[in-house]
Amino acid sequence: MLPMTVSAADAWSSLLSYAKREIPEQTFRMWLEPLVPLEFTGERISLGAPDQFSADWLTEKHADVLAALAPIALGYPCEVRFEVNEQSKNRLQMDLFSRTAKHAATIASSTIPPTERPLLSARYTFDNFVIGKSNELAAAASLAVAQAPGRIYNPFVIYGPTGLGKTHLMQAIAHTILDTKPGFRVVFIGAEQFTNAYIAAIQNRSMAVFRARFREVDLLLLDDIHFLKNKEGTQEEFFHTFNALYENGRQIVMTSDRPPAELAGIEARLVTRFQWGLVADVRIPDLEHRVAILRQKAAIDQLERTIPDDVLRFLAENIQGSVRELEGAIVRLLAYASLKHSEVTIPTALEAFGSLFASSGNTITPPRTPSEITVSRIQDVVAQVWGISPSDLRSKSRTRSFVVPRHAAMLLLRELLKLQLVDIGAVFSGRDHSTVIHSLERAQVLLQSDPTFRQHYVTAWEQLTGIPHH
Ligand code: ADP
Ligand code: MG
Repeated sequence: MLPMTVSAADAWSSLLSYAKREIPEQTFRMWLEPLVPLEFTGERISLGAPDQFSADWLTEKHADVLAALAPIALGYPCEVRFEVNEQSKNRLQMDLFSRTAKHAATIASSTIPPTERPLLSARYTFDNFVIGKSNELAAAASLAVAQAPGRIYNPFVIYGPTGLGKTHLMQAIAHTILDTKPGFRVVFIGAEQFTNAYIAAIQNRSMAVFRARFREVDLLLLDDIHFLKNKEGTQEEFFHTFNALYENGRQIVMTSDRPPAELAGIEARLVTRFQWGLVADVRIPDLEHRVAILRQKAAIDQLERTIPDDVLRFLAENIQGSVRELEGAIVRLLAYASLKHSEVTIPTALEAFGSLFASSGNTITPPRTPSEITVSRIQDVVAQVWGISPSDLRSKSRTRSFVVPRHAAMLLLRELLKLQLVDIGAVFSGRDHSTVIHSLERAQVLLQSDPTFRQHYVTAWEQLTGIPHH
């Protein structure tokens, strides 16, 4: 990524998306979201705060965190500066934009009032979207819509749980259309903002403006339509918006957290319309797909050298949730490694995620190399060798038949993964470190004094590492 080609808005939007995961939501909403990107030189980003107090506060509390995220978010270090921006006090949200506005923003972002900046994230393009079984229909249909808007799949609805790329695909459609069809009028808006805009229009008696804004467009992207639940007035308005666009052959793209048929609290006539075109889902990616996504994220962020392939694979095996969680894992791991001044290795990853991994995986595949030993795999193998269930092993129960294998599992976590005491405690229902010390001592004693324990321990050890116990 070349600094010169990145606008202040794009740089800030990238930085923000990373900050969002690192900074508590309240703080994020209150302090970071309202900021206006003023200037980006490649080495420094200037952000407009509403008043001097905010600017000072932000400088003191958040400048360092944001600067620390810059290498990940932007690909190079960047100083973060806050200054007072008069305009931001009465900033309006503007979501209508065109190719010209986008170019202008790139050339001289500081001279463009914030209201003319696109709300699209520069990263949400087809190029950056990794296709796998879980999203191939949605991706193919999105491409088709981008190539022939208003002609094949209208409306087009993408649904699925959060963090799986719905907004990304929707914006990729917009990027492609803005690239190939200059002058196309595109509106991207969340259903929540649509609702707010509608209410504001009623209050300000500006319905005519509101209607023009949403009906005189070529492509309307409405994100998270489930938000319209029980908002009767907004639904009524959207019904007419929909009809106006549809009748004129304008493309409508929507996302939802569930299939239209299951949208409770949304009028039947709308639900029916949502199903007129194509409805496609996105699901949780499988292992290979997760690896591919992580690899691509690392490549975009120019982190190939910082995150070795075996660590990426390790993350993919242990984080079985959404893509957003995968992205969060990279950020967390890098932040952890840099705080600890350690290299990004599997043990570092285990330390960074210790407690998270234990709860996530019970379907771990056998390790292909010793380096693929995970917390949950150790727990599973120990449970199996002792003939108990992994959940009993992790539980707080003090039954002797659970307590003894628990000693063994803790010692294995210590020996094979070099886990810290607190992290071992965390993956066993949050035991404190003194309990862990006691367990480790008991395990050592049993190894010497109890042949059955020793035999079980060695079996588990060999099964995990694939090599004979010395
Ligand atoms: P949703 O709208 O479904 O909640 P998003 O579109 O916001 O999810 O995606 C969450 C994050 O995951 C975004 O940063 C997005 O770029 C990323 N993402 C999701 N799916 C993919 C994919 N298949 N390839 C690359 N990145 C993805
Ligand atoms: Mg979304």
